[in-house]
Amino acid sequence: MDKSLLVIGAGAAGLMAAYELSGAGLPVTIVEAADRPGGRILTLQDNGFSFPVEAGAEFVHGSLPITLGLLKLADIAHRPVKGKMVRVRKGEWGREDLFSDDGWSELMAKMGELPGDMPLGDFLDTYFAEDRYALLCNAVRGFAEGYDLADLSRASTLALYQEWQEEGQGEFRVEGGYSRLIHYLEQQCLSRGCKIHYRAPVQEVRWQKGAVELRCADGQTFFGSKLITTVSLGVLQLAAGASGGLRFAPDIPAYREAALAMGYGSVIKVLMEFKSSFWEKKGKDTGFILSDEAVPTWWTQHPDGSRLLTAWIAATAMRNFRALDEQTRLKTCMDSLATIFGVNVDFLKGELAAYHVHDWMDEPYVRGGYSYETVGSGTARALLRQPLEDTLFFAGEALYEGPALATVEAALDSGRDVADKINARP
Ligand SMILES: Cc1cc2nc3c(=O)[nH]c(=O)nc-3n(C[C@H](O)[C@H](O)[C@H](O)COP(=O)(O)OP(=O)(O)OC[C@H]3O[C@@H](n4cnc5c(N)ncnc54)[C@H](O)[C@@H]3O)c2cc1C
Repeated sequence: MDKSLLVIGAGAAGLMAAYELSGAGLPVTIVEAADRPGGRILTLQDNGFSFPVEAGAEFVHGSLPITLGLLKLADIAHRPVKGKMVRVRKGEWGREDLFSDDGWSELMAKMGELPGDMPLGDFLDTYFAEDRYALLCNAVRGFAEGYDLADLSRASTLALYQEWQEEGQGEFRVEGGYSRLIHYLEQQCLSRGCKIHYRAPVQEVRWQKGAVELRCADGQTFFGSKLITTVSLGVLQLAAGASGGLRFAPDIPAYREAALAMGYGSVIKVLMEFKSSFWEKKGKDTGFILSDEAVPTWWTQHPDGSRLLTAWIAATAMRNFRALDEQTRLKTCMDSLATIFGVNVDFLKGELAAYHVHDWMDEPYVRGGYSYETVGSGTARALLRQPLEDTLFFAGEALYEGPALATVEAALDSGRDVADKINARP
């Protein structure tokens, strides 16, 4: 019997698990569908841009111990994100003060008093229905849908309360891009004897206690004694047999149901490099821009002077954008920018140097952005974190327990946690 430990996925969670297990002298084989490591971490190095740009994860959200610890080990610098957040309504610029608003304090106080959990949408309808809260509710809905990628009819109010209490810890960007961290982990894994197979999409997992066989789309097979599955929640939620999905034999329907009980949202990121930082005319320290345009949310690279604007398109704006053809997408971005900055579309066309749209729903082995907490997702996650017959283990950002939900830190922590579980077993 092959004693290898198999890992599906060379994203942050899979690589971290492999790094820990191979570091403990165990034989590890990673099987990855894509032709690269990183999953939802994707720093584009060329694509016409004059510097590395992030199509996936971009920020380190606070003083996160595993991420910052690995960056230090890898000797990769990180730099603070700065700049003010502005709100643009019909071309009029104003400061976005949601978190220092009196209404925000009232909202947080009410969330903290809730005797039991309920979906955020119901919470707002119940306690903040009066007209005087309309602007607050709009901003809160936009924040939960846009930032957390949450469906408000399912999103847990108590989980958002916990998360929003942690806001404002400072953000960082990784010098040269997040993929540098992934390449460090990949190299460490290889030097510890771990094998990594790319372009190997697993279709079927045949298993019994102590023995696993992975069958890939191209006929390759891999054998081992245990399996750690780190695919995204979007992939786990696919029906058995669906394209891009994993089939378990024997099937484990309770695990798929648990995955479906959890929340998973999606997002489109648009990267636009310009020949000049024309936005600085509106204020040199502009960081994040929230607006009512079709492409509503943008950010600069402040304080780094890169001439890049990034659009973040989620919720209704994403659904509308997805329906557009390629040309209309670019036009929609240009129209939104023209209104926000009060400039001419022809001027923007002349300034555009590089452009990339990344729709994470279209990634066949990711199927979305990241997880969010639903009412009751704690029970579902607890089941998925439970190994089956000491043979099937699950990890990934969605299975993390702690304050840094839906982040790279969550994925790394979950990978380390599952490795600890395996290492602790006789
Ligand atoms: C647009 C975007 C922006 C984000 N921004 C941030 C941010 O600023 N900061 C932050 O901390 N986090 C951010 N995140 C979240 C962060 O990227 C993820 O939480 C984290 O990278 C998830 O890592 P993972 O290993 O759990 O999953 P993944 O990265 O999804 O890795 C899973 C791997 O499994 C592989 N796989 C799937 N199916 C199969 C199969 N059948 N066979 C073999 N392999 C398979 C996939 O190809 C993938 O490589 C962002 C995510 C997105 C999409």
